[in-house]
Amino acid sequence: MFKVYHEVLTLSTVRQFQLIDITKDVEKIVERSGIKDGICVVFAPHATGAIIANENEAGLLDDITTFVREFTESDREWKHNRIDDNAHAHIGSAVISSERVFPVIGWRLVRGTWQNIFFVEMDGPRPYRNVVVMVLGSIS
Ligand code: ZN
Repeated sequence: MFKVYHEVLTLSTVRQFQLIDITKDVEKIVERSGIKDGICVVFAPHATGAIIANENEAGLLDDITTFVREFTESDREWKHNRIDDNAHAHIGSAVISSERVFPVIGWRLVRGTWQNIFFVEMDGPRPYRNVVVMVLGSIS
């Protein structure tokens, strides 16, 4: 039998650029879904945030943050900054992507040992950020 299940995670961020590890939350949602085989979509409904999968190592998280800050050129005079002050974050979201998809096999989310799941804040701090986690698949 086919099933679709979702939950919404609510986060808050405290810095302009910040990576928040949501791996355990996503894995618990997959467990609660009861879905045996299918896919798990992790989606950030925000134009200035993104979702990535990578290693949770402090130095690397700083490196990724540095890279995102540099490639989005947060100090540049982007046109969107004439009406809002976050063009770099929109560009980061557009390039990195708002969603990632993971396989679900045998009631477990499949990911590499060094693939934790992160929400990427690029326009913080924000009191509320949502991440929609949707699991679709068979329950038997
Ligand atoms: Zn904007």
